[in-house]
Amino acid sequence: MSIFNDNLNRLKEIQVLENISEGDMKALLEPVQENYTELDINGQKYPAWRIVYNRAIGPGKGGIRFHPDVSEDEVKSLAFWMALKNSLADIPYGGAKGGVKFNPKTTSQADLELISRQYIDYFYPYLGQDKDIPAPDVYTNGQIMSWMLDEFEKKIGQHEPGMITGKPVELGGIAMRGDATAQGGYLVTKEAITKFLGDAQDIKIVIQGFGNAGLFMTEKLANDGYKIIAVSDSKGGIFNAAGLNISELVIWKNQGQTVGDYVGGQKITNAELLELDTDILVLAALENQITKDNAANIKARCLVELANGPISYEADAILAQNKKPVVPDILANSGGVIVSYFEWAQNRTGQILDEEYLRNLLEKKMKTNWQRVYDQYIAKQGAITLRQSAYILAVKRILAAEKWRGRI
Ligand code: NAD
Repeated sequence: MSIFNDNLNRLKEIQVLENISEGDMKALLEPVQENYTELDINGQKYPAWRIVYNRAIGPGKGGIRFHPDVSEDEVKSLAFWMALKNSLADIPYGGAKGGVKFNPKTTSQADLELISRQYIDYFYPYLGQDKDIPAPDVYTNGQIMSWMLDEFEKKIGQHEPGMITGKPVELGGIAMRGDATAQGGYLVTKEAITKFLGDAQDIKIVIQGFGNAGLFMTEKLANDGYKIIAVSDSKGGIFNAAGLNISELVIWKNQGQTVGDYVGGQKITNAELLELDTDILVLAALENQITKDNAANIKARCLVELANGPISYEADAILAQNKKPVVPDILANSGGVIVSYFEWAQNRTGQILDEEYLRNLLEKKMKTNWQRVYDQYIAKQGAITLRQSAYILAVKRILAAEKWRGRI
């Protein structure tokens, strides 16, 4: 099964809907640059990729993932989504992504540092604040960004903090990056609740994934009084029909425990969690969680993709048929890269912008982008999904940039 093929299928739909020529479409069917190597740590090999999907609008931009399932197909898809996300968000970036295939959970800190540094030793000629700018993704964090920045600066012999985002504040990072993805997702989820659930009372929410994106999102929604009835991590989930005690659960998780072992609810599998009777289902883990095999069993009234690509192409059609709106990843999780853009802009100009100003800017951007996607969706009177609406806006901007450059 290829996730990237799903993306090509989705692009094909946009081509038909918008009557885009084959020639123009070619600009979006393949990445503009793919680099691959095998890192070697004490004789052990680690396949590693950096892929820039498009740079018509600006330099490559997108995270680096450390995970045992990383593959070329996955990195290419993630890079593709970054290109669309950055275009939709109206920030001056193309799209890129990187990954290393290994299990960071069973790797020592010393080896994690070696892997991070070796990644840069190989890929550094292709990276830079005006070429391609990495950031954290699944199982990478501020420490890994710091080692990568340090190695990059050693290589080029000068400071260049804008070559990577998601750094600790001491290295030019920005405090609000920590919960930015969740904050953006939270803002569009509130919009979706208003539009799709109206004045429903006692709204129930289920969240898959309890890492950077999922945990902060859970906290934000719980703080607003929504009833979080289930959450999960890679080991499984926890369910409580009366609502979980989220502050207790966060302390539990931060002690290194898995959510399924928390005593304040009933243990469930990830598969069961997805099919719970709920108002909102937030997907904040990995790709392909809802496929043709379980899409018809989804009871949630509205879904939010905080993860990248959690719903397959075939599942999209089933959910649409069952009138279940999906707030798509390229909109819902764009808060992270928008704040990465603020960080990059500060690093490049040396200016330090007021956090309150930036928080308001993030909110304004998320709401404007939601509104553009939603308005077009409504204007087409049910003929397109929210995902198609977002893809149309994103694709059109990239193709316009390609046209201005005279490439198509
Ligand atoms: P993370 O490493 O902080 O957390 C991942 C979480 O998912 C962990 O709780 C892990 O236990 C859980 N998980 C893994 N496999 C699972 C499974 N099969 N079922 C349920 N839970 C599972 O990663 P993150 O940064 O939170 O990223 C999660 C998703 O959000 C990814 O798709 C990522 O690309 C996307 N995303 C993250 C950011 C960001 O700023 N962190 C930005 C945009 C998109």
